[in-house]
Amino acid sequence: MQDLVTSLNERRQRKLYRTRQTLEGSQDVVIHVDGREYLSFCSNDYLGLAAHPRLITAFKEGADRFGVGSGAAHLITGHSYAHQALEEELADFVERPRALLFSTGYMANLGVVSALAGRGDVVLEDRLNHASLIDAARLSGAQLVRYRHSDMNSLRRKLSPIETGACLIASDGVFSMDGDRAPLRELASAAEQGGSWLLVDDAHGFGVLGPDGRGWFFDQLAHAGDEAILMATLGKAFGTFGAFVAGSEALIETLVQHARTFVYTTAPPPAVAWATRTALQMVREGHDLRDNLHASIVRFRQGAEQLGIPLMPSDTPIQPVIVGDAGAALRLSEALRERGILVTAIRPPTVPEGTARLRITLSARHAPQQVDRLLAELNVSFSEILDVAR
Ligand SMILES: *Cc1c(COP(=O)(O)O)cnc(C)c1O
Repeated sequence: MQDLVTSLNERRQRKLYRTRQTLEGSQDVVIHVDGREYLSFCSNDYLGLAAHPRLITAFKEGADRFGVGSGAAHLITGHSYAHQALEEELADFVERPRALLFSTGYMANLGVVSALAGRGDVVLEDRLNHASLIDAARLSGAQLVRYRHSDMNSLRRKLSPIETGACLIASDGVFSMDGDRAPLRELASAAEQGGSWLLVDDAHGFGVLGPDGRGWFFDQLAHAGDEAILMATLGKAFGTFGAFVAGSEALIETLVQHARTFVYTTAPPPAVAWATRTALQMVREGHDLRDNLHASIVRFRQGAEQLGIPLMPSDTPIQPVIVGDAGAALRLSEALRERGILVTAIRPPTVPEGTARLRITLSARHAPQQVDRLLAELNVSFSEILDVAR
């Protein structure tokens, strides 16, 4: 038996120990933790919908109409009118024949990959893919092959020797820890040539990018064939919870039959689906929200550049500041916290060794003055903690 206390202590010493904080109120750009108010740059609630009065009203209405629990799996009696209506509206929004709801994005990825690939097959993944895609490939029993980040030469080199068995290429649409976008058109043409599936995880693009917030997948692959599969989550820009997969009729029916994370689990609360229908409407109409968000991204990047704060090539709400050392990233995050600003330090194994960073996320609800305050405090904390390095 492993000594848990020793390994926890060792993790603490390596500055990799993780803890939670308890929010006293709702998710927002200003949050309350331990009786103190913080300006937050941590959430994935990019459009500020998570606690929006319209969503709250829709959620209550959903609970009045459908109750709280779904009471069963989708294939038994858990699939309600709220789920069905949302699936149809999501399919319509992304212009694919069908959509299927999953309880979470993590489960959606596990479900799709295991339904389409198994022993004897190959799953090709970008090195920086989200953990759920990596775990999905492992669970499927297929051989997991990773190619260099967004590097099509690396992908093609790994694709060409594959002769037998099914093949699936999986990539984040917008990379969750780097904020850059995957070259989806090139990925789709590689997939087409290789006769393989392409699964795109658009968790961070859906609601934010593309026409009417239809996402990075839609923006790039609206006309792609049935081999291109979209997975997107509803707990980020949509402000609610859950995820869906969109694709052909045959794909969705295959998932209904074989995706174990769909079949063997309780359907999510119908009221969540009901509220998500309102979120979808707000995303469709959310041009002002996306304009605000974009203005904050530009303001942050211009300000950081002037201050010499090292940015990454991202034009999405995910704006990482690379620090390198996990301890230094943690100290920076703590220094900012003392000044009333919350920014998450992201450390290995979430990101590769030596690339610890501050992951700053912007929201449509951040005011210009709040972005300026972040920049000023980042500047102070950087010079206090990383003076030697600069
Ligand atoms: C958040 C996230 C997921 C998981 O979605 P959940 O609904 O939170 O389980 C999957 N992929 C990516 C890229 C994500 O950022």
